[in-house]
Amino acid sequence: MRLTRVFPRGGSATCRPFKTKLLEINARIIAKRKAYELSTARTVLVTGGNRGIGRAIAEEFIRQGHRVAVTVRSGEGPTGALSVIADVTDSASLDAAFAEVAEKLGPIEVLVANAGITRDTLLMRMTEDDFESVVNTNLNGVFRVVKRASTGMIKGKFGRIVLIGSVVGLLGSAGQVNYSSTKSALVGMARSITRELGARGITANVVAPGFIDTDMTAALPEAQQDEYKKKIPAGRFAQPEEVARVVTWLASDDAAYISGAVIPVDGGLGMGH
Ligand code: NDP
Repeated sequence: MRLTRVFPRGGSATCRPFKTKLLEINARIIAKRKAYELSTARTVLVTGGNRGIGRAIAEEFIRQGHRVAVTVRSGEGPTGALSVIADVTDSASLDAAFAEVAEKLGPIEVLVANAGITRDTLLMRMTEDDFESVVNTNLNGVFRVVKRASTGMIKGKFGRIVLIGSVVGLLGSAGQVNYSSTKSALVGMARSITRELGARGITANVVAPGFIDTDMTAALPEAQQDEYKKKIPAGRFAQPEEVARVVTWLASDDAAYISGAVIPVDGGLGMGH
């Protein structure tokens, strides 16, 4: 744009060599940038990578040329990913999964704690088991994987921890006292990790999706989905890929100075929180 204005079409004979030089410099910057992006291939682990948002995140990391492993309880992750069997509520299965990833792909440099469940019901009907099972997966499960991944990150003086929270972690949600409690707790976790490990090249952030088209939202009655859409400024649910691209960006070198943040991907639903 700028070049066109400074050097109108054809330009003067004296201007042309200068313009060519500028274009050459520009091309060199672009080439250098591409080489730089390719040189940062990382070992990535995504929990719950067989479907939904986790699978989309894994696919995007693969597309960008990273070494990707996913945990699955059953089934397989996307083509190009190493699938390791693990349940985030089962420490022994995680020990085995982490050892397999380290052996086959090297130490984990990027961890995406994505696996999560809902058990929605109103507080008056919520049993202790409804509450504890969601906490055990969505909060304790995240602690279990973060602790295991951080050892190698500290040794390697590099790490990107991305916790998949939710808009309801800060907004609250009727019928989700268990789920929203776990998602707001992830904010405290990411910020505490940032304070403990920030000086060691490790960042920890929360990505807080709004309503994303996955099995989790498909389980909601259609009338309820329409009601939610009315409240979302964007007027629609998002696709999992829209979350995935934010996660891969947070894991990139470009986001090295972002830590302890809550990044919304919610079409404006949670604004002001
Ligand atoms: P899905 O229900 O589609 O997928 C959940 C994933 O988590 C599956 O891979 C599932 O594995 C895995 N998982 C569940 N429990 C465990 C466990 N104990 N151990 C290992 N893996 C487990 O959910 P989404 O893709 O929609 O959600 C992914 C994340 O995004 C969750 O943390 C969710 O809370 C969050 N989120 C989702 C939103 C949405 O609108 N969809 C909005 C905001 C946040 P399996 O196939 O074996 O069950």
